[in-house]
Amino acid sequence: MGPKRKIACCVIISIVGTVVIMALVSAIPGMFIPARYFFVGIFCASSLSTPVCLLLTRQAEENRHLREQLEQRVAELARLAQIDGLTGLLTRNAFFDRASVAHGRPGNWYLLIDIDHFKQFNDGHGHQAGDAVLQAVGQAIRESLHPDAICGRLGGEEFAICLTGCDSAQAVRRAEHVRASIQSLRVRAPSGRIVRATASIGLSAGDPAVPIEVSLHRADMAMYAAKTGGRNQVRLAA
Ligand code: GH3
Ligand code: MG
Ligand code: MG
Repeated sequence: MGPKRKIACCVIISIVGTVVIMALVSAIPGMFIPARYFFVGIFCASSLSTPVCLLLTRQAEENRHLREQLEQRVAELARLAQIDGLTGLLTRNAFFDRASVAHGRPGNWYLLIDIDHFKQFNDGHGHQAGDAVLQAVGQAIRESLHPDAICGRLGGEEFAICLTGCDSAQAVRRAEHVRASIQSLRVRAPSGRIVRATASIGLSAGDPAVPIEVSLHRADMAMYAAKTGGRNQVRLAA
């Protein structure tokens, strides 16, 4: 109901209420109220209830507007808490929340990605160049995978992905595709220099018999094997 209608309803109710009460009182023996006093009653009821209803309705409208703004802000904050500001991927907590739901389903795979020699971007080109590389890697990960893939930044230059509905050959192909996408990046550092990045990737099958942390630890071990094996490669967990 719109505000004007609300005000009209309130005024009508107060007028009708006043007339009914006056009629009931008038029906009591010895309490007869002449018709002209009914007009006084109607005048009083309408002149008092109109400004009061106006005020209350305006207040209610303001409250509704504020509540809507608050709900929008809460939704925005919830979204910001889930998305890593630099890479646009899920935050660590949001990644674990979503991946835990998918954990143990058949065709579930985990990728653990660590950028190679990342420290050298910070040391050689400044922290901003490192941030630009992280941003570009986040975008490359997102764009190289199906939207169903759950992609998060675990912290620093480490990322995790949960793939769903893959057999082992598909999982390896997708991991390889992510690796190649990162390798083909050309990132412009604030100095104007173009820098290139590679990443080492560990891959493990989601195992319903163990918690998600164990599956990710297996991917982590495989990622370290990729590091010691020369970096810029995908290794499947044993
Ligand atoms: P490796 O190939 O063995 O992984 O070597 P690495 O240099 O990538 O690994 P290391 O752990 O030595 O360095 C990671 C660096 O990442 C150190 C830290 O300063 C940097 N780092 C972590 N978070 C951020 C960030 O948000 N922005 C930037 N620019 N650097 C970050
Ligand atoms: Mg690391
Ligand atoms: Mg690294």
